Amino acid sequence: MNKLEFEQRLSKVYNGSITPLTSYVNLHCTMQFHCIICDTEFFNKASHMIGKDPQRHVCTLPYADRYGTRLLYVSTIKPNKKKYDSPEKLAKRLNEMVENGLHL
Ligand SMILES: [Zn+2]
Repeated sequence: MNKLEFEQRLSKVYNGSITPLTSYVNLHCTMQFHCIICDTEFFNKASHMIGKDPQRHVCTLPYADRYGTRLLYVSTIKPNKKKYDSPEKLAKRLNEMVENGLHL
């Protein structure tokens, strides 16, 4: 299956709602995709995206693991959403912890 065939298959399976963000190399390659329906960026194997149902993308649901069980959580990349505290904030918290520890 070449890149064009894969993209055609992908748009057929998901009615065009999934856009590949990385270029297709082969079916065993993990790619990054974007879903316009749930506005989520995620990683999945190319073959899984167009393969068996439990491994396909379903909006709001993470894709399943290799045993076909859907996981409770999936790591997504959300722009405009801060996942981690700033280094300054972390340093401040660390200082507070040290101070509190010293006063105990
Ligand atoms: Zn989706």
